[in-house]
Amino acid sequence: MARSQLSVGLIGYPVDHSLSPVFQQAAFDALGIPARYELWPTPAEVLDERVRWLRGPEVLGANVTVPHKAAVFTRVDQVTERARRAGAVNTVVNRGGVLYGDNTDVPGFLAPLRERGLPLGELAVVVLGAGGAARGILVALAEAGCRQVTVANRTAERAHELAVEFGVVAAPLDQRLEPCLRRADLLVNATSVGWDGASLPIDAALLDALPATALVYDLTYRDTPLLQVARRRGLATIDGLGMLVYQGAESFRLWTSQEPPLEVMWRAALAARQAHEQASRRS
Ligand code: NAP
Repeated sequence: MARSQLSVGLIGYPVDHSLSPVFQQAAFDALGIPARYELWPTPAEVLDERVRWLRGPEVLGANVTVPHKAAVFTRVDQVTERARRAGAVNTVVNRGGVLYGDNTDVPGFLAPLRERGLPLGELAVVVLGAGGAARGILVALAEAGCRQVTVANRTAERAHELAVEFGVVAAPLDQRLEPCLRRADLLVNATSVGWDGASLPIDAALLDALPATALVYDLTYRDTPLLQVARRRGLATIDGLGMLVYQGAESFRLWTSQEPPLEVMWRAALAARQAHEQASRRS
């Protein structure tokens, strides 16, 4: 007897540049799960309708991206503790019409650091940015018990708000960041600066302040000028593709209760990124 088709997809607006359909579909296909991962572009005015629709028996759940992570947090029936702390849901699981919200960006961010065997509890970390992604990173760094965390943002007030909420230090996103960088083991770019392949979130010269053993981690899932400058200074770097794949793998685990085929997901994500880059070079 043929098994009926299940749906899962990405809620956001816009969603058309996402790599998630490619590597999630590869994972479903590899395990023979009859599910389609779809793009669900959802303007704010139809978000309620979309969330209601997720309760249907053919829907496994969803990923949620910009700008709806905080709005979906308020619309699901139950949330995990890490989603509550982040104030954001990036994964919805439909269990018999009841919607559970989780935030897999939190373990997704930590996974590439754990993979490198870093002693997370001993790290001094500087986070650039105070938007939704930075919030998730602060939850992750607190979960990992990092020794010292500084958050720096263009709009100083937002950094201060996060610093108070998470019990970390706020700093301006300019030359005054230098003393913090001198002591940092890890610099995380959680701003949206770098997608254009030209801009840097901080002055390139500031990277000279980092110790030679520091790691620079950019959440952007492409190579960025920040990572290029860091590498030229001999620093180790990580881009955001790993976080994307690991958060997706955790979502897959929640939807299917099966071990995600990580290697398959990685291969598909790398190929999709390469195809996107080639297409954008041609256009
Ligand atoms: P967001 O909520 O819109 O926040 C954007 C942040 O970037 C804010 O802190 C903003 O500062 C800062 N910013 C924007 N333009 C700037 C500029 N010209 N100079 C300095 N700072 C600037 O976005 P988000 O959801 O946090 O996402 C941030 C980045 O993380 C995006 O690139 C996103 O793609 C990436 N991300 C990656 C993953 C992954 O899986 N790899 C997951 C989540 C997010 P102000 O407060 O001053 O405006």
